[in-house]
Amino acid sequence: MTTESERFFKKSLDLIPGGVNSPVRSFAAVGGTPFLAARGEGAHLFDIDGRDYVDYVMSWGPLILGHSYKPIVEAIVKAARHGTSFGAPTKNEMELALLVRERMPWIEKLRLVSSGTEACMTAARLARAATGRNIIVKFDGCYHGHSDAFLVKAGSGLATGGLPASAGVPDEVTANTISLPYNNIQAAETCFKENGKNIAAVIIEPIAANMGVIPPVHGFLHKIRELCDSHGSILIFDELITGFRVTPGGAAQLFDIKPDLICLGKILGGGLPLAALGGKAEIMDYLAPRGPVYQAGTLSGNPLSTAAGIAILRALADPDIYTNLRQYAIRLASQIAELFAVYEVPVCINRIESLFSIFFSDVEVKDYSGAQQSDMKLFAKFFHKLLSEGIFIPPSGFEAWFISTAHTPEDLKSTVKAIEHFLIELKSENN
Ligand code: PLP
Repeated sequence: MTTESERFFKKSLDLIPGGVNSPVRSFAAVGGTPFLAARGEGAHLFDIDGRDYVDYVMSWGPLILGHSYKPIVEAIVKAARHGTSFGAPTKNEMELALLVRERMPWIEKLRLVSSGTEACMTAARLARAATGRNIIVKFDGCYHGHSDAFLVKAGSGLATGGLPASAGVPDEVTANTISLPYNNIQAAETCFKENGKNIAAVIIEPIAANMGVIPPVHGFLHKIRELCDSHGSILIFDELITGFRVTPGGAAQLFDIKPDLICLGKILGGGLPLAALGGKAEIMDYLAPRGPVYQAGTLSGNPLSTAAGIAILRALADPDIYTNLRQYAIRLASQIAELFAVYEVPVCINRIESLFSIFFSDVEVKDYSGAQQSDMKLFAKFFHKLLSEGIFIPPSGFEAWFISTAHTPEDLKSTVKAIEHFLIELKSENN
């Protein structure tokens, strides 16, 4: 029987390329047809056929407090009554900047934009202007949005689609991008030895989460900080995923490293389009109208987004939230690990704070090439079994699972149960 989701998705294919407005939403990597979302409540997502899913996608990160979190919804409704966009500065923009700086005191100045892509693109432009250099160093499998210069061995949708790069990006544009293996201190040292005086910036996900979750090995981030310092290069932390998630102050707080620039988004907007770049005032002041680096946005600092951002950051002031998120992730990851051990299916579970993902691999995954060795056919099977039991995980083995404060012990139980059913089926197929 055809579901409403299948019917509408088929129609969408005629109107929207691939039927989706962001490639990661498609089921291209796992096969089948995505369901169409109708509404979300807490940790649950309901599709247009009325099916109920425990959601571990959570809009790919922003919904750390769950769907339809009341204070956020109320703040948005209240703001909307006063107008949806002004094109003039507002008090809320300043208040949000203050709330961010309270948690991340190394951010002296902050500019609000509407997407992570804009934040990362502008950070690179700023770094080039401030240093008078051109080279940007990134890491294989990290994702910094879809601006041209970063589409070199990028993670997320490109990793899922097995694409080394994007069509439509001229070689000249990426000629100044160097992509290095993540977690490889020696490769970073060699790169700086050879190119140091031309490196404007290093941009990094301090915890990689767009090739599955890959935490930095001990000393890696500190070495990158040191190399940037000794060569006059700017260190950009892309904390779109880790910001406000792994600690209130993000990965920079967790590892006690101060980046020069930081990119934020996702949680920052509480589920509405909002992102930011911030950092040292001496660099941020290169931005127009103070300085010569142009950047602008019709809807930047939109009043609905800033209202949602203020509401979520105020709610996240409760430190118990981080303890609870971590506890849920620890329980889930350890119960999954135990089950896989019982059924003797090799698996590598990478977890740090509340971020985690599963690789179907019998080796430790520390970089993009390791992530690529994971059995993605088995992942597709795993995904569909879980989906059929009402558990929605990212439809790609190269993405993080997102946990929220709304996930309950019952959600955990049903997730683990569905995973056990998958393992039982797998065992009977293999026998
Ligand atoms: N940087 C990181 C680490 C991301 O995970 C993402 C999106 O997933 C981006 C940048 C791009 O953000 P946006 O999708 O808002 O353009």
